[in-house]
Amino acid sequence: MSAPARAEKPTLLSQRGVSTAPRILTVDSAPDVIELAPDCRVPILWKQSSRARRVSLRIDPLRQAVTVTLPGPLTPQDAMPFLKTQRHWITKRLAALHNAPAFLAGRTIPVGGIPHLIVHQPAARSGVWIEAQQIFVSGTEEFIGRRVRDFLRNHARTVLGQELRTQAQATGLRPTRLDIRDTSSRWGSCSSSGRIMLSWRLIMAPASVRHYLIAHELAHLRHMNHSPAFWALVDQLTPHRHAAEHWLKHHGSALLGAR
Ligand SMILES: [Zn+2]
Repeated sequence: MSAPARAEKPTLLSQRGVSTAPRILTVDSAPDVIELAPDCRVPILWKQSSRARRVSLRIDPLRQAVTVTLPGPLTPQDAMPFLKTQRHWITKRLAALHNAPAFLAGRTIPVGGIPHLIVHQPAARSGVWIEAQQIFVSGTEEFIGRRVRDFLRNHARTVLGQELRTQAQATGLRPTRLDIRDTSSRWGSCSSSGRIMLSWRLIMAPASVRHYLIAHELAHLRHMNHSPAFWALVDQLTPHRHAAEHWLKHHGSALLGAR
């Protein structure tokens, strides 16, 4: 089970429940863009899922697109009128993405929720380091973005690994392994074999948000669902659930879209 990014909006119920394997739709006649305003068209990525009960919309921050998941029986044409009623929501979400932090010299990005200024030091010996709320980056300017991302990803591996071990020891819930990934839509997930995946982008979020996400995925080791028993366990493991959900709803998509 997974913790979806909060830029998700389920609605429009499907009528029937025909079972088909989840797949990405490639229907020639399906509209591939939605026009939000004159001269403002956004790509649509269609997906079909036999498990989906309703049409759901999600913003794909890396592709700057709308992902639409359709329940088995519905076609893109069926969903299009509904999608058009959601133009305002899509526009608002995409506008939030444009405020996403950028990994460029002179820009500020959060680490642990605290703003850090990216400072280019072309002649420095060591690659990337953090000092006094600044991220120093050596080397040529064109690689600053990649070097900062690589640095944060490694930093995330260390910090999230440590925090996961601490919470696992305290709770007795032990994952079989931790994968640090870059996903455009999810902060974390937990497989039935006990593998936990966390997004490296969590390193940009405040510690309380990381604590909640880790508790959420650990709780899935006992409950592979979002039942009341699951949420009761989450609340036992962390005091931060509601504040963290609220924080992710408002700031999450900017972090997922940071590049
Ligand atoms: Zn979950």
